[in-house]
Order: sequence, then structure tokens, then C-alpha cells
Amino acid sequence: SYRSRSAFKLLEIDKNWGRFLSRDEICAVVDLGAAPGGWSQVVAEKLGWINPALSDEDMDIAPNFGLNERARIDKFGSWSSTAGRGVVVAVDLLPIAPIPGVHTLQMDFLSPQAAGAVKTALSTPENPSGMADIILSDMAANFSGNRVRDVESSLDICHSVFQFAKDNLHVAAANHRTDKRRGGTLLLKHFEHPLSKGFREEYLDPNFNSVNYIKPSASRAGSAEGYWLCRGWKGLRSH
Ligand code: SAM
Repeated sequence: SYRSRSAFKLLEIDKNWGRFLSRDEICAVVDLGAAPGGWSQVVAEKLGWINPALSDEDMDIAPNFGLNERARIDKFGSWSSTAGRGVVVAVDLLPIAPIPGVHTLQMDFLSPQAAGAVKTALSTPENPSGMADIILSDMAANFSGNRVRDVESSLDICHSVFQFAKDNLHVAAANHRTDKRRGGTLLLKHFEHPLSKGFREEYLDPNFNSVNYIKPSASRAGSAEGYWLCRGWKGLRSH
């Protein structure tokens, strides 16, 4: 079973938006704000590191688990590990219990050392460029209740993730026949606000082939969180 309900949000987004997590050529994924590890479990499963005991059909109805959740976990048992492909790097301030195929880093992603540490973990014999195909960020600071402060901390996170993406997202290969890797994907949680819209227009829209706003149905009603799914990193166009 998954460690967080957030896992169902990621499954829902992947399912509704072209199964971007499931492509064969994906070999490097970064999961920021990953604790307790639900999203990393989903990614590890997509890369074949985890053999899910739950079938796809069960996943589809999972957001409505509610009271049936326990029964299903009992019925289908626990995850088992297999040999997968690629590398997943998961970062959080909080510890993350081990997940097959996932390299965990306990640190503040906003600290100056973070980008280098993630880059090092991404650089493997299978991924010698150390570039990422997908960067996921579910990072959120604790809500203060003060709207201005909450927007500011969300924007700090967005800027820091964008900075990392700018340096580390894979640009589409020049020869698509020999290298199937596409322009990278960024999924970025943010706090809905006019200032966030400005961030999107300045940094995301010009640099990706498409940017979509997503409010997953699995996220709490009335919460101010949303996600941008940014696909097809073009390489930096401005700034
Ligand atoms: N996606 C996760 C899952 O499926 O289990 C849930 C993530 S939770 C909504 C947000 C996480 O962001 C928290 O675990 C929090 O510790 C982390 N976080 C917030 N600010 C951070 C920072 N500056 N560096 C690293 N992690 C951070």
C-alpha cells in the first residue's frame, strides 16, 4: 500500500495527462518534498522497482478508498521488490524509510548544498549526464495561516525548483531516433494566488512546450494548492 494519500493524486495526474511517468525511456526522476514517500513509491513502481500487489483497476478506484482502504490492503498484501531501471532521487527535510530503487536525501532543498547533492545522486552509469527526465515537487512549507507569508514561501520553493530544473532537466535529444529522451517534465505544487500566476507566466510558459494547471480531485476541497504540469523543457529561453 502507499504511504500517503498524495500517491493517489500523482496516479490520477499521470493517468489523466498522458501517462508521462510510464514512458520507457525515462531513466532519472527527482521527487522533492518526498516524505513519507508515496510519490516515490508510485515512481519506483512505474520504473519496475516495485511490483505492486494492487492491480491497475484497483489503483483507479483508489482515491475513493475511504473505509475500504484497510480491507484492500489486507486483501492484496504488501509490495514486493524487483529489479527496475533508472534512478529516483527523493529529498525531504524529514526522513524517508527505504524504498527499492529510490535514493533518499534528508536535507533542506532550499539550502545551497542541495542541488549538488541531488546532481551527484542522479549521476549513475545508466544516467551519465546526471540530467533528470522528470522533476516532481510536492514541497510545501507548513501553512502559517497568513496568506501573504504562505504565498511567499510557496514562491520561494517554486523559484528554487525552477532554478534546479533549469540546470538539470533533460533537453530533447537532437536525434530522436538514437536517443528517445524527450524534453523534461516538471510537476510543481504551488499556492494559488495572482503572484503565482505571474511566476508561471514569467518562468514556466516560455520554457516548456506546454504548461497545464491541475487541481487533482484527490486533493482536499477548499485547499489553495494546485499543480502545474510542465512538459517539453525547451532549454532556457529567457533570463
Ligand atoms: N509527496 C509526498 C508523498 O507522497 O508522500 C508528500 C509530500 S508533503 C505534502 C510535503 C513535504 O514537503 C513535507 O514532507 C515537507 O517536509 C517537505 N518540505 C517542505 N519544505 C521543504 C524543503 N525546504 N526541503 C525539503 N523538503 C521540504
